[in-house]
Amino acid sequence: MRACPQNIIFMGDGGQPELTFSEAGCTSCGECQRACPTSALSGTIELRDRMLPSILDHCFNQQGVYCDSCRDVCEVDAIKVKPRLGGTVEMRIELDPCTACGQCVAVCPADAIAMESVL
Ligand code: SF4
Ligand code: SF4
Repeated sequence: MRACPQNIIFMGDGGQPELTFSEAGCTSCGECQRACPTSALSGTIELRDRMLPSILDHCFNQQGVYCDSCRDVCEVDAIKVKPRLGGTVEMRIELDPCTACGQCVAVCPADAIAMESVL
């Protein structure tokens, strides 16, 4: 928790460290991995093996208000704008390139992106 420069690790109710993407995403800097005294954060574990983002129905675009903040922040270009009939758009996440960094979750002004467990 103390090592993370993004301050996204907190102690969960179960007494285990958890991640929150409400304010920032993971930059894959590796500081938590280097700080862990038991090597519990193995280099073979990737965030996307544990969780993936999904866009919820209250995305601004579903209400007819254009927004592409999540697409702008995604460093791997995983979020696409899909035109819909009537001139509105729908945001779609391509999960193959997604690293589950959580940057899109942090930036969404509508709190409309959820990180869901894939376990
Ligand atoms: S979680 Fe995935 S879709 Fe969201 S910003 Fe990171 S790589 Fe892009
Ligand atoms: S940032 Fe949030 S409101 Fe904006 S397009 Fe992405 S999911 Fe929708």
